[in-house]
Amino acid sequence: MTMTLHKIAVLPGDGIGPEVVDATIAVMDAVQNTGLVHLEYLKGDAGYDAIKKYGTNLPDKTVEMMKGTAACLKGPMTTPEEPGTPRSAAVTMRSLFNLYANVRPARTLPNVTALNPGIDMIVVRENTEGLYSGKEFEVTPGVGVAMKIITRKASERIARFSFDLAMKRRKKLAFVHKANILKITDGIFKQACLDVAKEYPGVEVEDLHIDAAAMQLIRRPESFDVIVTMNLYGDILSDEAAATVGGLGVAAGANIGDNYGMFEPVHGSAPKYTGQNKVNPVATIEAARLMLDYLGETKAASLVEKATTAVLKEGKVMTYDLGGKAKTSDMGEAIAAKIASLK
Ligand code: NAD
Repeated sequence: MTMTLHKIAVLPGDGIGPEVVDATIAVMDAVQNTGLVHLEYLKGDAGYDAIKKYGTNLPDKTVEMMKGTAACLKGPMTTPEEPGTPRSAAVTMRSLFNLYANVRPARTLPNVTALNPGIDMIVVRENTEGLYSGKEFEVTPGVGVAMKIITRKASERIARFSFDLAMKRRKKLAFVHKANILKITDGIFKQACLDVAKEYPGVEVEDLHIDAAAMQLIRRPESFDVIVTMNLYGDILSDEAAATVGGLGVAAGANIGDNYGMFEPVHGSAPKYTGQNKVNPVATIEAARLMLDYLGETKAASLVEKATTAVLKEGKVMTYDLGGKAKTSDMGEAIAAKIASLK
């Protein structure tokens, strides 16, 4: 049987991006060497350094290259904050490729401090509308208005995506909103979740207000399976979920649409650590694992997961944030070697 060749766009980004992406490529090469998967990497420029070269953080050349690939592995990228500078490259990619579902798993890993040993949840954030529509204006000096756009169509789409995910997991779903205050916008989202829930009678459903959800995530993180919510609430809750299992060094996110997927670590470019070969590559390796899963390469994805878990469990090769002294590249090589020994 011939193996599918997956063309992957690899955007190393800037700051610590190239270091964590290199460590991840070492891991993906190790998976390829087992013969389980066939990948071709197409590298592209994007991020802060691209601004000097192309005048934009997402050059057309890179977008065209991405269109010829099945998925993208994206390193972190610095977003300049001065007025008039380009918006975040990740946000542009999400809208260009209609990546409507932002999927962020948070689960307890060995030797990584977590609130509870049994956490295994996924926060699904609607990625295309809500308060991130970017429609803001100053009505009179000192009075600003931001438009929160919520549609039945996008709410139903994200609800269905999340229920499908719950069906593959522990069949529990919490939907999160603030419809008691935002009766129209959050009301549309809430009603869409309740209506879609009727199509999935096997899924246990919990209806939570955002403030209560923020508290329950700390009080009983192990009780959550899939959480679905709107854009801003999801941005905040997914960082909180990452904190319950050890923070930025291990947290990854998938941005999924009907025809494309973009995978990235949750953390940013951590400029102060650039070039030190010091930060934790596990978040980016975890992003690559999510990408393999999305590509249907479940055996390869599971091998990456087993190898990462085994290296963390041994606790010998750990970066500074996990209490060790290993370099970024050491951690990548240790996981790559574990893949070779497990296969
Ligand atoms: P950051 O995530 O880059 O770093 C915050 C701190 O977290 C670091 O100083 C470090 O102590 C720790 N950290 C981050 N990644 C780590 C890793 N892999 N291993 C160990 N420790 C790690 O957040 P920031 O300083 O707020 O942002 C820096 C830049 O990154 C900004 O320009 C921001 O816009 C950008 N950013 C980009 C993305 C993205 O590309 N998706 C996401 C978040 C932030």
